[in-house]
Amino acid sequence: MEVERKQRRHYSDVLDHLKTYFPSPVSDPIMDGYFVHSVSRFLDQVDGLKSALPLLGSGVKNSHYEASQQAVFPEGISSVEEVTGMLADYCQGMTIWSHPSAQVNVIPPPTIPSITAFIAAALYNPNIISDEYSGRFSEAEIQSIAMLSGLVGYDPQQSGGLFTFGGTGTILYGCKLGIEKILGGKGMQEGIREDIKIFSSDVSHYSRLNVAAWLGLGMKNLIAVPSTSNNEMSLSALEDALRATLNQGHKVAVIIATLGTTDAFGIDDLAAIVHLRDCLVDEYRLDYVPHVHADAVIGWAWAVFRDYDFDDNPLGFHARTLRSLTDSLERIDSLQMADSIGIDLHKTGYAPYISSVFLIKDRSSLALLSRAPEQMPYLYQVGHYHPGIYTLECSRSGAGALATLASIRLLGKKGYRVLIGHNVEMAEMLRERLERHACIYVLNDYNYGPVTLFRIYPPGVDAGEALRRELNDPDYRNQLLEHNRYNRRIFDLICERVMQGEGVLLSWTLAYRYANYPEAPAIAALKSFIMSPWTDLKAIDSVVDQVMEAREQIACS
Ligand SMILES: *Cc1c(COP(=O)(O)O)cnc(C)c1O
Repeated sequence: MEVERKQRRHYSDVLDHLKTYFPSPVSDPIMDGYFVHSVSRFLDQVDGLKSALPLLGSGVKNSHYEASQQAVFPEGISSVEEVTGMLADYCQGMTIWSHPSAQVNVIPPPTIPSITAFIAAALYNPNIISDEYSGRFSEAEIQSIAMLSGLVGYDPQQSGGLFTFGGTGTILYGCKLGIEKILGGKGMQEGIREDIKIFSSDVSHYSRLNVAAWLGLGMKNLIAVPSTSNNEMSLSALEDALRATLNQGHKVAVIIATLGTTDAFGIDDLAAIVHLRDCLVDEYRLDYVPHVHADAVIGWAWAVFRDYDFDDNPLGFHARTLRSLTDSLERIDSLQMADSIGIDLHKTGYAPYISSVFLIKDRSSLALLSRAPEQMPYLYQVGHYHPGIYTLECSRSGAGALATLASIRLLGKKGYRVLIGHNVEMAEMLRERLERHACIYVLNDYNYGPVTLFRIYPPGVDAGEALRRELNDPDYRNQLLEHNRYNRRIFDLICERVMQGEGVLLSWTLAYRYANYPEAPAIAALKSFIMSPWTDLKAIDSVVDQVMEAREQIACS
């Protein structure tokens, strides 16, 4: 009893203690200092996890989660210090994306101001459902969208957009708009009662599957158009597929063009797709216009080169880099022809997750997604900016919008040209070095981005000949699978080396593409995705060295 009495504290005493867990609402040098100290302790503790490895901590991954599943909601209160230490601990195993030895995927290291923007949003907790709850964070959303509109060539007087929950969200908005354009906005009330089709290439991002499924269309209404060996949608196949659908009397809601595929940086010919759409609208006398959405979550950043002086080349890129950049730009330059565009600042924009923008050429069409204000009586009593009337989300973080504004202001076109140009330049150097080896084949030879997919072949196998047969010869199927396993062994050996502090962390894709015959197996590949400003020629050389050494190791084993 005695013990229990001692532990009894009136709630108001506990409350006074809990107040020290929050940043002070009014300026208070002691409490403000405590806040800064807590963040700074966290940074110190995370710093202690750094080594030669491109990740935090020892790199030993906890591969089973049984213990995690036993976690129980705690009874008591912890201290800020305890939890801060715990937070640092939970950063273990994180890849350091800025590390020169990390070439893993399209994940950037965020810049300091974009991180500060996330801190600002966490501190003051804006909800850009309405300017009533978000102060100038609303302005950040509107300004970022205006700037990105101008960048891709939209007319900011007509265009609009919103921040959403990821690249998947941008595709969801694009497809929903396409469907509502056909249904005249009635789908919001009545639902979708017919099979309406969505088209995209067979190497477009899998999020199309989620979108079709979650919108209630069903994945069966998604038509995967074959891609060419350049990883772009085949225009003749698209035309055939569209005609087949229209001839059957079905409707075409959306064509998704991918500008920068995830694995190979394939870029669809958006201008030709829009042209084809317009011709078919005339020919079939459609009473609606199929929506063209550009999934440019990766490729949008190349738009910063639209007004780069390639002849004068003031940034001094190499000839091979210039060719890559102009080649990509030729396609990216037509983004303005799309009805809507998806842009991820958390991919090629050097901002933290999630900073995704859905841009729309004609903002008045957002009315198709609106609910009547009467349906939201508790909102919109004051203020002038109410995106919540047409957004899917109700709670809308201001973090992505402010981080986007911060990134654009900080880097400008020039900064992005340098960062993107450097990634492409390093990728070109890597390709050049890989191409010197007869046993290595660079798979996305015609896709000039920061990503390089390659396959290694065992001694006695001619790489070019083997790949040709893998792609086309059903009798070569077993060798294809054997080579997949061989490449996987090389990849695993490389991972082991990286965990011992040597070499560059790459990634693995199960299906660079499928072979060109029915029921064909996937062709796997090693993948280098360069995003770090710290990637240099030394890192490039060690990618090639480690691949060749792993190959030797297998030959000797
Ligand atoms: C990453 C990616 C997506 C999905 O974006 P998230 O932001 O991860 O939701 C869509 N399309 C392409 C081409 C992508 O690379």
